[in-house]
Amino acid sequence: MKSYDPQMHTAEHILNQTMVRMFGCERSFSNHIEKKKSKCDYHFNRPLDLYEELELVKKVNEVISQNLEVKEYFLTLAEASEKFNLSRLPEGSGDEVRIVTVGDYDACPCIGPHVKNSSEIGVFQLVSTSHEDGILRVRFKLSE
Ligand SMILES: [Zn+2]
Repeated sequence: MKSYDPQMHTAEHILNQTMVRMFGCERSFSNHIEKKKSKCDYHFNRPLDLYEELELVKKVNEVISQNLEVKEYFLTLAEASEKFNLSRLPEGSGDEVRIVTVGDYDACPCIGPHVKNSSEIGVFQLVSTSHEDGILRVRFKLSE
């Protein structure tokens, strides 16, 4: 079990929802979340240009700066599978699925630790993006 940094991990939720809204892609299918620097991989058919990178950073930070409450609620496995893609939940998570919400902006099933409010995340900074073999990799870090 990976030990997720709550700030980084909550930023990942916001980044994923922002990618979905901006580009109509799926949430990241693979990621590596660490305190200093993280990366998320998306199925994507092209690289991002500089303008899109700037827009992405701007939008993620707009969401963070709204001081959104991060909350959780529980659904049965059957209810959750109707609304969410559960393929990334670990096996044997039980009959209840925890749904984590970031204000009204994002909701997704997750077992990891999160901050209580987006104001705790800090500032989202893009380190770089790259594209290879249909995979867009977004590397990011957080600052105070
Ligand atoms: Zn999470």
